[in-house]
Amino acid sequence: MSSIPTTNFFNDVCSFFDHASQFTNHSAGLLDQIKTCNSVYRFRFPIRKGNGVQVIDAWRVEHSHHMSPTKGGIRYSDMVNEDEVMALAALMTYKCAIVNVPFGGAKGGIKINTKNYSVAELENITRRYTVELVKKNFIGPAIDVPAPDYGSGEREMSWIADTYNTMNPGQLDAMGCVTGKPIALHGIHGRREATGRGVALAIRECMNVAEDMKALGLTTGLVNKRVIVQGLGNVGYHTAKYLAELGAIIVGLCEYEGAVYNENGLDLEAVVAHRKEAGTILGFAGAKKEFVTSGEGLEQECDILVPAALENQILITNIGRIKAKIIAEAANGPTTPEAAAIFVKNGGIIIPDMYCNAGGVTVSYFEWLKNLSHVAFGRMDKRYEENANSNLVTMVEKMTGMNLTLEQRGLIVKGPSELELVNSGLEETMVRSYHEIREIKMSNKNINDLRTAAFVGAINKVAVSYMNMGIWP
Ligand code: NAD
Repeated sequence: MSSIPTTNFFNDVCSFFDHASQFTNHSAGLLDQIKTCNSVYRFRFPIRKGNGVQVIDAWRVEHSHHMSPTKGGIRYSDMVNEDEVMALAALMTYKCAIVNVPFGGAKGGIKINTKNYSVAELENITRRYTVELVKKNFIGPAIDVPAPDYGSGEREMSWIADTYNTMNPGQLDAMGCVTGKPIALHGIHGRREATGRGVALAIRECMNVAEDMKALGLTTGLVNKRVIVQGLGNVGYHTAKYLAELGAIIVGLCEYEGAVYNENGLDLEAVVAHRKEAGTILGFAGAKKEFVTSGEGLEQECDILVPAALENQILITNIGRIKAKIIAEAANGPTTPEAAAIFVKNGGIIIPDMYCNAGGVTVSYFEWLKNLSHVAFGRMDKRYEENANSNLVTMVEKMTGMNLTLEQRGLIVKGPSELELVNSGLEETMVRSYHEIREIKMSNKNINDLRTAAFVGAINKVAVSYMNMGIWP
């Protein structure tokens, strides 16, 4: 399976949008304003490499300003292109609307293969990229707030935060200019694993609806459901980890160099350790089958398929061989519109990217709030709650003459930590949003998939913002 994105990704997103917009009643002009990318900044900058100079291609796209700031990750990949960044920025707008995160959509791209650069060179590239954004007012806690995406993580976010902070001395909220930062640099507990945890919660919620599972010929719940995950990066790894914790069996894991499969289950940590040591997923002793392409891995027996690598993985050419009944789009744009239509027509459920992987931006929103308020969640009330709960338990013990064990008391009186509050906010968001989307689907018999329903919900919310703002001048 090729992982090279076609140049149709933005068109694909627009085609999903157009299909959904027939179920709304907004004017053509307003729909056009929602769909279009407001600002596309394409730039090039030089870096020193060895004794020479190399020119780097980069982008930042702000898709919609119906809410400020705009928000979206930065992709580091030698395959990144303008069309892809535009598509991903558009998806961010709809994603934020679906999970009620008050941001517009944006995305960034740096066209490099990270494997070809030293850490020092990656730092130079990241810092220079940030400076270019500052120069053109494409970054800031109230303007546009990047985050990690494919090929980037906490390290890159630290460099961005430090560069922005250095260039804006005295700006009190400067650390809110980027999310996905390490805890020690104003990050938030739970952000690293948030997208994967959110994907697992999305699948759990979908599988808890008895009526929908009956139609698929599946029992409810995740216990003993067979899962194949493509991509063992941040999103794929954490998705597999939480799905296993919820009782699912990880039967297949696919990386770009190939895939491993065992119908009785793979030990995720052992696969990761093997890949780290051997430099490839292939040759893992616990696998019963292995495949030299990632694509073959997708086609094996399972109940749930989780593409968590890149776009354009499930196409018209391989959809007929996909055995899963549920595709949970952890990656952005893994299924093309044509392939998705066939899968849904054959009775499958697609949990769409714009909802499925929204856990990342949800917790990024919490991190941004933390940065603006300059205090960790739970710091002010954790101990207060514990004392209040403890007094209550003591009173009940006195009144009833019965005493709790120390362990029971500890469970009841405990005040929440930042991580617990973040995970609670994430779970509430994923659960509420799933049912909001499903209700839109159920409210109109002509809406036959969750993606269309999710787009309808998102378009309506963005439209209300634009209508309330008006047009000026
Ligand atoms: P990552 O760089 O951490 O990991 C991606 C993994 O996919 C890598 O291990 C890579 O080797 C693997 N991969 C690449 N091509 C592959 C192929 N053809 N087959 C199998 N594996 C392949 O990236 P990530 O942050 O996990 O992002 C993955 C996807 O999730 C992207 O589509 C991204 O836009 C989306 N996403 C990420 C976040 C986030 O918080 N990081 C949030 C929302 C959506």
